[in-house]
Amino acid sequence: MPEPLDVERLLDWDRRHVWHPYGPMPGRSRPLVVESASGVRIRLAEPVGGHRELIDATSSWWSTIHGYNHPVLNAAVQDQLGRMSHVMFGGLTHEPAVRLARRLVEITPEGLEHVFLADSGSVSVEVAVKMCLQYWRSRGRPDKRRLMTWRGGYHGDTWHPMSVCDPEGGMHNLWSGALPRQVFADAPPAGFDREPEPEYVDQLRRLMSRHADELAAVIVEPVVQNAGGMRFHSPGYLRVLRQLCDELGVLLVFDEIATGFGRTGTLFAADHAQVTPDVLCLGKALTGGYLSMAAALCVPRVAEGISEGEVPVLAHGPTFMGNPLSSAVACASIDLLLEQDWAGEVRRIERVLREGLAPCASLDRVAEVRVLGAIGVVRMDHPVDGERAARAAAEQGVWLRAFRDLLYVMPPYVIGDDDLHRTCQALAAAAEVA
Ligand code: PMP
Repeated sequence: MPEPLDVERLLDWDRRHVWHPYGPMPGRSRPLVVESASGVRIRLAEPVGGHRELIDATSSWWSTIHGYNHPVLNAAVQDQLGRMSHVMFGGLTHEPAVRLARRLVEITPEGLEHVFLADSGSVSVEVAVKMCLQYWRSRGRPDKRRLMTWRGGYHGDTWHPMSVCDPEGGMHNLWSGALPRQVFADAPPAGFDREPEPEYVDQLRRLMSRHADELAAVIVEPVVQNAGGMRFHSPGYLRVLRQLCDELGVLLVFDEIATGFGRTGTLFAADHAQVTPDVLCLGKALTGGYLSMAAALCVPRVAEGISEGEVPVLAHGPTFMGNPLSSAVACASIDLLLEQDWAGEVRRIERVLREGLAPCASLDRVAEVRVLGAIGVVRMDHPVDGERAARAAAEQGVWLRAFRDLLYVMPPYVIGDDDLHRTCQALAAAAEVA
């Protein structure tokens, strides 16, 4: 029998020894201690605001699309655990990884055929960048090694991903000067339903033309810029980027780590525009939020280019590449998603969020309310006090995280209407105090 949990001792150790995301050492805030999680609920070791269980409005950073402790996903992990949890991928292969790669080739936009199974989202972006730089090197164009993106993006916390995060608003401006200098266009004009603005398209064209000789790739989050500001833009810009990249000889990378697997209403955000990128990054919901895994898929042109070069291999091979446990649960999560009317569920969530968040628009200091697919955002007219906002939501029985001037919900797709309404009310309560 494990010892009973001494919450104060645990928190004391946590504070003094354990880094948390974007946190100081020692820690200054008091995290909630989680005992277990099931469905859309996180169960706490101690009640907060009178609640022992909180509805998770964030899907654990947008990953747990089927909720926690799902019997089908649990069974997939247990079944795989009985065979092997891990085996190296160099010189060896296995059915779960091959099955997952096949599934991904089948469901992602037409033309993406080769799959690199990495161990986290940031690493898959590193791999995507390496694919593009190596492609041009192999083609005798080593000078094509810069990246272009638009402002307001977020691609992860390792080095190359940081270099294409928003250079000012992001968390990485500390490193400007140390990071590779990339080419930045303005953020895409906001609005999912709006037609592309000709002046902005001209700006993209001018910038890309000027830098075409040194650009390896353009990398963007399609349709929704997530951690960079939760902004939505027209899918038309993806078609513009595809056309410009083709004209000017630049590769196109879509980072769908946050948008993949239905979140924006189509299976992949690229599907809104019917565009195939040269490289696609996936992560987060890939394993239903069970285990860390990500993928970088590419089109044959990129794979062939690399393989015909002076170093005819993709020089990357992490220890946990293709991890069998992650692969097995990813396959189960994809099957679970596709077996149900996931698009109907996302439409239902969208409808309830539109209805439920609409009253927030008339609250004091709310600048804007926007909803797309299973994403609801309330933008304030000032930077929010994240801890106060979280506490106010917890008092309504809901877990949410705010950042910058933003409060948002991205719930698991299995959330019921009642819980969703409660989530909207909690967000409104957070907006009142944030
Ligand atoms: N790209 C995007 C669009 C993301 O939202 C994130 C994570 N928030 C990442 C990359 C990085 O993924 P990870 O945290 O798994 O490294």
